[in-house]
Amino acid sequence: MRTLYDEPLSAHTTMRVGGPADRMVFVSSEEELREILISCRDEGTPCTVIGKGSNLLVSDAGYRGTVISTADVLTGTEILGEEEESVLIGAKSGVVLMALSVFAAEQGLSGLEFASGIPGTVGGAVRMNAGAYGGEMRDVTAEVTLLGRDGTVRCVSGEEMRFSYRHSILTETGEIVLSARFRLRRGDRTVIRRTMDELLEKRRSKQPLEYPSAGSTWKRPEGYFAAKLIEEAGCKGLSVGDAQISEKHAGFLINKGHATAAQIRSLMREVERRVYENSGVRLTPEVEMLGEWEEVTES
Ligand SMILES: Cc1cc2nc3c(=O)[nH]c(=O)nc-3n(C[C@H](O)[C@H](O)[C@H](O)COP(=O)(O)OP(=O)(O)OC[C@H]3O[C@@H](n4cnc5c(N)ncnc54)[C@H](O)[C@@H]3O)c2cc1C
Repeated sequence: MRTLYDEPLSAHTTMRVGGPADRMVFVSSEEELREILISCRDEGTPCTVIGKGSNLLVSDAGYRGTVISTADVLTGTEILGEEEESVLIGAKSGVVLMALSVFAAEQGLSGLEFASGIPGTVGGAVRMNAGAYGGEMRDVTAEVTLLGRDGTVRCVSGEEMRFSYRHSILTETGEIVLSARFRLRRGDRTVIRRTMDELLEKRRSKQPLEYPSAGSTWKRPEGYFAAKLIEEAGCKGLSVGDAQISEKHAGFLINKGHATAAQIRSLMREVERRVYENSGVRLTPEVEMLGEWEEVTES
């Protein structure tokens, strides 16, 4: 297993922010993942699994424990079963969603077009029920193989994952995704590719993809759009150091160069305060915090 010590997590998050992990392990098989999880449990040291780090804000102090990375290493995609109308494909947790949707498109399989521009892994996307442009992981997930913190493995159906908006049971159980099966419909390869291209173009024109970010920083509050609330509260372009609310899309908090996690956190709080003052709506972060954070008392 490739193992690094005091590895800066800024190199493993799309926000390009985050202090060192005591230890970072890159697992290329489900057995390795299970082995390292059990050894951390036996040692009594904290451990966490990450994919592409595309929905993470890691503190400047970093993570005291072991970070297990699956992205691009715990990989493998295959066709598992074919029926007249649909096909079941399997993917390991470290497969990048973009690669999975290209694989599906090449096979003439429809259902994952929405995911082609989401820069996460299967594991992260299933946990978060990632979604875009009217599609989400819930629509295609047939079955998931999960690893419990005690080392037990179980398979659950899509329904048992109890997906809801950017949520699954994994938030509560803390289980780890080893692999997942997706049910896709047969479709026209050219149409699937065209839809993917159109969605990618939409992203390029609306989102500040030229800067590091973690995508939408806040969840969509019911009945509202986070970006609109942020804009109406006068926060577009608001900065703390190199952390800035994008001028192009107010739902994105970008790193203009050397932003620290503390600056990003402070900007997030200020935006949440101003939006609440202006609209009475409380924004909840979509990005997840990892690492050691200093307590901040809200005034
Ligand atoms: C430019 C940009 C655009 C984005 N657009 C979208 C979008 O349209 N829709 C959307 O939903 N999201 C979007 N995101 C956010 C992000 O890509 C998704 O949330 C993605 O699913 C996160 O996957 P990840 O592998 O990067 O997970 P990470 O960020 O590495 O981890 C996120 C959480 O998942 C957990 N996790 C990771 N792997 C596993 C595993 N194998 N088992 C269990 N838990 C695991 C981590 O512990 C953490 O709690 C965007 C991000 C960026 C940077």
